[in-house]
Amino acid sequence: MEHKKVIIVGSGPAGLTAAIYTARADLEPMVIEGEPSSTSDQPGGQLMLTTEIENFPGFPEGLMGPELMTNMRAQAERFGASFKTAKVTKVLLDSSPFALYTSDQQDQNEPALTCDALIVATGARSIMLNLESENELIGHGLSTCATCDGFFFRGQDIAVVGGGDSALEEALFLTKFANSVTIIHRRDTLRASKIMQDRAFSNEKIRFEWNKTVTALHSKDSVLTGVTLEDTATYENTMLNVTGLFVAIGHSPNTDVFKGLLEMDDAGYIISHSGTHTSIDGVFACGDVQDHKYRQAITAAGSGCMAAIDVERWLESQH
Ligand code: NAP
Repeated sequence: MEHKKVIIVGSGPAGLTAAIYTARADLEPMVIEGEPSSTSDQPGGQLMLTTEIENFPGFPEGLMGPELMTNMRAQAERFGASFKTAKVTKVLLDSSPFALYTSDQQDQNEPALTCDALIVATGARSIMLNLESENELIGHGLSTCATCDGFFFRGQDIAVVGGGDSALEEALFLTKFANSVTIIHRRDTLRASKIMQDRAFSNEKIRFEWNKTVTALHSKDSVLTGVTLEDTATYENTMLNVTGLFVAIGHSPNTDVFKGLLEMDDAGYIISHSGTHTSIDGVFACGDVQDHKYRQAITAAGSGCMAAIDVERWLESQH
């Protein structure tokens, strides 16, 4: 069993910024960065699934999400942060030091790690449509990541579900490859920002299916061939023949291992107070796992910095 002063769970912009700051404060943090097994909680978080980031200050020409995360990780390593490529499977927070079990440990009876302070930066993941055969079709026409999968849809007719910034960003990116991109939205007005709406409306390859929800996925030989759309007013069903469907309908916080331990809101986001303190003394939360409002790389990074400073002061107050 290894003991650390600070363990950070999560390696998105919040976790890595917390790592940079706690490492520079000589707290020798360990980052449990997740596993490359799934798109939702892979190391680097959601920005690994993002295309160009134009609004992260300091990069006037923009940069790609994965590049930003690689740079942040290297910066944290430079100051002495260590990394563990695993998922946290269980935490014990009722006494100090806190104990953590991880997916890579052989003996699950004993915790693999203990720490004095814990920073939770596990982020959020894509919400899915919960339709039959959805899981089987992921990677076979169904995707939540245009950056990862857009290339495979060159010259095809595809669709994106959702009316927020994510949906429009995905749709605009996909027009680089696809023959046409249909945005399927359940209302007749978009939630996305004005600038993204203007870009989408002026793109010749983008069309809209307003007031429609996807009620069924169709496939042949385990590959998507089309979707059934239901009109939200008339309940009339129509078939849309698409070979790709990108789901961009929002996110859900990655808080399963902390359920029942930390105070959360109804949607499962951790409630933080006085900066990044949680309901347990010595446990701090930053980034999207405690923020359903702003959800930006820069706000996540900012709250990661706050968590590191809160941890440093809290540790000082303990010793
Ligand atoms: P969002 O803003 O919550 O939008 C989700 C969209 O999906 C909404 O249009 C919603 O419809 C729709 N939706 C939700 N559940 C659905 C369901 N079950 N079936 C069909 N449609 C459903 O989420 P987001 O687009 O992921 O954006 C999250 C945050 O990140 C926002 O603050 C956004 O501004 C930000 N963001 C910014 C950028 C950027 O600046 N480049 C890029 C991406 C995201 P309703 O509108 O009817 O609720």
